[in-house]
Amino acid sequence: APPPLVEDAPIKMRTYDLSQLSPEARSQLLRRPVLKSEEMIAKVKPIVDDVRKRGDAALLELTAKFDKAKLTTTVEFPPFVPESMQLEPAIREAIDVAYANVRKFHAAQTQDSTLVVETMPGVVCSRFARPIARVGLYVPGGTAILPSTALMLGVPAQVAGCKEIVLATPPRPDGTISPEVMYVAHLVGASAVLKAGGGQAVAALAYGTETVPKVDKIFGPGNQWVTAAKMLVQNDTDALVSIDMPAGPSEVLVIADATANPAFVAADLLSQAEHGIDSQVVLVSVNLSDEAVAAIEREVDAQAHALPRVEILRQSVAKSLIVRTSSPEEAITFSNDYAPEHLIIHLENASSWVAAVQNAGSVFVGPFTPESCGDYASGTNHTLPTNGYARQFSGVNTLSFQKHITSQEITADGLRGLGPVVVTLADCEGLGAHANAVRIRLLAMQ
Ligand code: NAD
Repeated sequence: APPPLVEDAPIKMRTYDLSQLSPEARSQLLRRPVLKSEEMIAKVKPIVDDVRKRGDAALLELTAKFDKAKLTTTVEFPPFVPESMQLEPAIREAIDVAYANVRKFHAAQTQDSTLVVETMPGVVCSRFARPIARVGLYVPGGTAILPSTALMLGVPAQVAGCKEIVLATPPRPDGTISPEVMYVAHLVGASAVLKAGGGQAVAALAYGTETVPKVDKIFGPGNQWVTAAKMLVQNDTDALVSIDMPAGPSEVLVIADATANPAFVAADLLSQAEHGIDSQVVLVSVNLSDEAVAAIEREVDAQAHALPRVEILRQSVAKSLIVRTSSPEEAITFSNDYAPEHLIIHLENASSWVAAVQNAGSVFVGPFTPESCGDYASGTNHTLPTNGYARQFSGVNTLSFQKHITSQEITADGLRGLGPVVVTLADCEGLGAHANAVRIRLLAMQ
């Protein structure tokens, strides 16, 4: 028989049995598709340099080139005209509910209470939070409109008390921004909306232009141009700007045992795989029978064929994995080593396994907690560490928009107690001026 037409080919993941793998093969499974960051940084540099040197003129030219939008101004300032944010009532209400939930969860994370500790008698140390004054939020817009990303970045900036919130997103060819994103910009109190995307938007945020306010920290996901530009400007001391975290393609790891519903598991895998052809999804089976794995595979295939993004799924699912393990402990250990952006637990007594999670961006517990809820509206943030960075990074949260300042006040008696310790340590390091700053006071107090 002739080979099946490509369109009819089954949409299928690759399967590995953890007990059969060498340590090298196991660590290979933990790797993500390679990111060509150095190459991309070199490619985006001329764009970033152009905006830095020529400001608005470069921004307008690059926006015409890449977004096909002929603009005369780069920035919209509030109050935004009502016509720019006209929405169907159902969409507006959905955004309002998502906004309220995300705000409730992120407001609860604010740390404005001052921490005060007397470490020795008369030695009082304290710590207090302050908002980062000016922040830039990149909302991708090349292939989709993403009001959810605007919410996930804008709400914590708002509750943290950032004074300037500059939201950047590529304009549509007619020069406008989608009304959904404009409405969120209005809700979160954005002080400017920059109508630009890619490396040029990041450069404008990092250095400022005649019309674009310079910011202190840049947040948000984006394609490889955006990511490379963020990495570039963060390393430029002239820009004096930081970024939220290294970004890579989206991922999910689903742990499932025999109690899991195959249709739910497949739907969860596909909801992540549809992001892009680089997305990686991993199913970790806990003692699933061959028949149970086959049932999930049938669901993945059938559901994928019925979805609008079937062509993306065909490629991302083919790169994805099924890893067979023989206990929940083994599955969680594998997940901790993989450090997924999203972890979905479809296990009996799912909530009892959360305590064992060491590395993950965000965890979704039990059969009725699809990742989509966290992506849009439950309250948690969806800007999360990918590529294994969940080992050392948190997802975006309210603290990402604050910094902490420490302070101390020492009394004369406090210095009598602490001073000799400091003099000894300073002398030991050979830093006489440090020791002297204490000695001079101790002598004055005699
Ligand atoms: P985008 O806004 O990131 O990029 C569009 C911009 O890229 C354009 O405005 C243009 O300036 C620039 N660009 C495109 N081609 C270029 C070229 N050849 N040379 C120079 N610049 C060029 O939108 P996108 O492309 O749709 O990508 C969105 C990305 O964001 C996807 O990778 C998606 O997975 C990711 N994303 C991630 C999350 C998350 O939370 N992890 C959420 C939403 C989106």
